[in-house]
Amino acid sequence: MTEKIVFTRGVPPPEAFPTEQMGECFDAAVRGDAATVLQYGQQRGYAPLRRQLAEEYGVSETEILVGNGSLQLQDLVASYLSGPGTVVYTEQPSYDRAIKTFRRRAAQAIGIPLEEDGISVDRLEAALEREVPAFVYLVPDFQNPAGATLSLEKRRRIVELAVEHDFWVIEDVPYRKLRYEGEDLPLLREIDASRVITMSSFSKLLSPGIRVGFMIAPEPLIDAVTALGEDTYLAPVLPTQAAVAEFMGRGLLGPNIERLKELYTPRWKTMSDAVRRELPDAQAFIPGGGFFVSVMLPEDANTTNLVGRGKDAGLVLTPGAAFFADPGDGEAVPGDRFVRLPFCAVTPGQIEEGVKRLASLL
Ligand code: PMP
Repeated sequence: MTEKIVFTRGVPPPEAFPTEQMGECFDAAVRGDAATVLQYGQQRGYAPLRRQLAEEYGVSETEILVGNGSLQLQDLVASYLSGPGTVVYTEQPSYDRAIKTFRRRAAQAIGIPLEEDGISVDRLEAALEREVPAFVYLVPDFQNPAGATLSLEKRRRIVELAVEHDFWVIEDVPYRKLRYEGEDLPLLREIDASRVITMSSFSKLLSPGIRVGFMIAPEPLIDAVTALGEDTYLAPVLPTQAAVAEFMGRGLLGPNIERLKELYTPRWKTMSDAVRRELPDAQAFIPGGGFFVSVMLPEDANTTNLVGRGKDAGLVLTPGAAFFADPGDGEAVPGDRFVRLPFCAVTPGQIEEGVKRLASLL
């Protein structure tokens, strides 16, 4: 039987989890601070973890909120900043779950085309002339789903535009620390924090199951989102946050990230090479890090029922259209030609075989 190859899962594989160390940290965290972590409370998140994050990002603890994964915080932020009358802008393509969340909260989530160096700033400026959104949602580093990284020049211009036109920029950076080549670019908040909300997560650096994500924003916004969180989940899940604090306090996070990079680098290289070799006519996004390579297939590629035909050939793909918000101007969305290729949870052998199968389907 043909081995099924799964190119849908943007999650860490089981071998990525620091299981023994996490077990010890859970034990120490719960036994060490039971009266706090087994109780309701700490609505902004576990205080020692907020302190560690505040120090790392050079902000005040009052500008940090740690919640149950970053997606829930995104949903709370969207419900606070937008409503039935507002629009929000996303990259196009963008993270599918964020698009869904925003669609539920705002009148419209409008996609602005993504280029190899991030969102098209020309198109963003044109859109701003028509309507100023409640916020622009960006994944500036190793974007999900495309893999693109926002250039320094565009980072500078976007924070300028945010101040000039008075809108928020959400920079969502869960993949930022998984860089396999090149140099870090500054966070948007490091250029000008005044209109920037930074979101990140331990899902890709430690474990998604622990549900620990955080946001950094000006204090009034943190207060408002904390209040919404309290109404939603009463108090965040503290034992996992305390385990993360313990993990960081023991100095284990940096070495764990290095270990993950060693695990993922051969997978990233194999995927990048296989895409260049097997799909030479596609426009490929080859990132310097993260979880995803992606391709925009040529217009003459046979993309009819690609997901269904892939399944028959033992290749599981996500429908590209899921990542495309409404372009808002009647322009055709090339979602059918877009293929996201997550490489972290598949072996180099599976990657080679999967990309060959994809090429043969086209
Ligand atoms: N943002 C992006 C861009 C993601 O890719 C993901 C996870 N796939 C999330 C947010 C959600 O992260 P969390 O597990 O912290 O909710």
